[in-house]
Amino acid sequence: MVRTTALITGASAGIGAAYAEQLAQRGHDLILVARDAMKLEQVAARIGEMTDVAIDILRADLTSGADRASVERRLREDPGISILVNNAGVSSNTTILKADPDRLEDLIDLNVVALTRLSVAIAPRLAAQGHGAIINLSSVTALIPATFEPTYLASKAYVLAFSESLAAQLAPHGVRVQAVLPGMTRTEIWTKGDHDLNALPQNMIMEVGEMVGAALSGFDLGETVTIPSLSDVGQWITFLEARATLQPHLSRQHAAGRYRVQDWKREHALDEALEATFPASDPIAVSGCHPRTP
Ligand code: NAP
Repeated sequence: MVRTTALITGASAGIGAAYAEQLAQRGHDLILVARDAMKLEQVAARIGEMTDVAIDILRADLTSGADRASVERRLREDPGISILVNNAGVSSNTTILKADPDRLEDLIDLNVVALTRLSVAIAPRLAAQGHGAIINLSSVTALIPATFEPTYLASKAYVLAFSESLAAQLAPHGVRVQAVLPGMTRTEIWTKGDHDLNALPQNMIMEVGEMVGAALSGFDLGETVTIPSLSDVGQWITFLEARATLQPHLSRQHAAGRYRVQDWKREHALDEALEATFPASDPIAVSGCHPRTP
């Protein structure tokens, strides 16, 4: 990657702070976005001791329309920004039966709406300049429905689908889009959600620096979807191939046979008519000459 500015959302902690550190080590200037300005200052100071990149702080609550608009404006108007890392996200660990709909709406506002609006803000400028990248943090939960809280999981499935589609639209303009699907990664998101990571199998939990390092290697390899934990990339290719085999069958003039209720009723009525004409005890039926026998 050539030196340019990366705007990272959710850069005050966890995965976002690790992206900030590793992108700075690659020589990129930074714009760090989150709500907690003091934590952003601490991240900036730490990175400032290790590198000489320029670091700007943009305090914003990405669920607030006014704050989000200021980040969108910066993405539209600052010609130096060529990388957007849409990382800010919250989780939810409730069941849908106990959920507070306002909190779920906040989750969608951040994980889906903000990510979409920021991508839409920067994409036309990147396409016009003919290079740049959008990196979106999804999750492996996007691939394993029914394993996690539905709204979080669906927000991450959105990020995956959005990124794959955006990648296809922007590739002809020289713009890269990558969806990153981390498994369990040791950050504060777990403690905020009252999960005890120490109670979970340790061989399923990745350290944050290793996860971000792997995600950036996936970016360097040109991947549209990077799953840092997945050692056999052939399994992902098999998944994509299986999905592609469905494509020619997904939009047809007529419903599949098993859904054609009228046909089924007609066949059923014919069966009943045959039964009336040729009862099962009928010697013709017993001899195997019944019209219903194939
Ligand atoms: P984290 O440690 O909780 O950090 C979340 C970051 O988002 C913080 O910098 C937080 O900063 C920021 N943020 C939260 N609400 C915000 C808001 N309304 N406006 C602006 N910024 C906000 O979480 P993480 O584990 O690093 O997760 C980062 C991303 O990776 C998320 O999208 C998450 O879904 C995804 N992910 C994580 C894991 C995992 O196991 N950790 C696995 C798969 C995917 P402030 O509080 O200062 O605003």
